[in-house]
Amino acid sequence: MTRRERVAGQEPPIDLMNTVWGSGKGIDDALATADGALEWIREIVPRLEQRPRSLDHWLPCASPLSVKETAFDLRRLRDALRRLAADATADERPAGVVSDLPGRQAAVNLLNNTAARAAASSALVWPGAGVPRIALQGDLPGGIAVSSLVALQAVRLFGGEERKRLRACLAPSCANYYLSGHGRRRWCSQACGNRARVARFNNKQSSNVIG
Ligand SMILES: [Zn+2]
Repeated sequence: MTRRERVAGQEPPIDLMNTVWGSGKGIDDALATADGALEWIREIVPRLEQRPRSLDHWLPCASPLSVKETAFDLRRLRDALRRLAADATADERPAGVVSDLPGRQAAVNLLNNTAARAAASSALVWPGAGVPRIALQGDLPGGIAVSSLVALQAVRLFGGEERKRLRACLAPSCANYYLSGHGRRRWCSQACGNRARVARFNNKQSSNVIG
């Protein structure tokens, strides 16, 4: 896979796992630069569950310089999540391990430590004329809020039933993970499904020629 294959509609932790992929020249990383990280953060924040309101105020003012440290945190969290995803899916793809991943326990520790930084509690918000909803209480710096909230969602993903729907994409050279809606889907996206079918067809053709 030479360019990033974005899997639409995946949860933020899975989207984070898929920010790195092997290209013909080596490893590409959407979070390698602070600009890339900020772009990712802008896409993901509106999709974070129960985010503190301060995050929505922080986002328009965030600059690449202000998310430099967050980019580093997100890359480390991403590698930890990829280790856990590889273990959860018994991933044996050569494309699956696209960077130096930590061991299982180190990945678990990093995930838990990042999630613990959220240190926010749920609160009930019920405006006079509105409907009640749950909001996060706490005023965290924006960058820390992003990585810790993604980590919290990842704790729920790996610790709960959803883990069983986690899949490694089996298309040639794809490094993505995705949540499968049903058991039979084997690719992260339609584009990967098409590539897999073309590769299978080509393999068949060449084995026919040899035979
Ligand atoms: Zn794929």
